[in-house]
Amino acid sequence: VNWKPMDPNLVRQLIQDQEDIITPLVKAENERYKKLHCPICRQDGCKKRIKPPKVIITEKGQQVVESPFGSSPLPYGYAVCSHCDTEFDPETGVIYKTKASTLPSSQSDPLP
Ligand SMILES: [Zn+2]
Repeated sequence: VNWKPMDPNLVRQLIQDQEDIITPLVKAENERYKKLHCPICRQDGCKKRIKPPKVIITEKGQQVVESPFGSSPLPYGYAVCSHCDTEFDPETGVIYKTKASTLPSSQSDPLP
């Protein structure tokens, strides 16, 4: 597929009379992440990280098989704790990644 990005100046001109719905959404989302409670260190304050798109190389060239953009105007993401770098899902609380040193000591005890 041969495509060219649009001229940013032209894009700006085209959307200048449109209501900006993205900025308030981003602000609200930032506030929500700032108040998020880390499931590991129990402190408040997280940042959003956007899942990178998954791209595969096929005979036809590059193909995006998983995109952070879906039905919502904002890309999908997950929370990253500003204190201990734990990555978790803000909706379900599922932990994606954390440092072993931040886990409570009972969980690092060797098995009997
Ligand atoms: Zn934390």
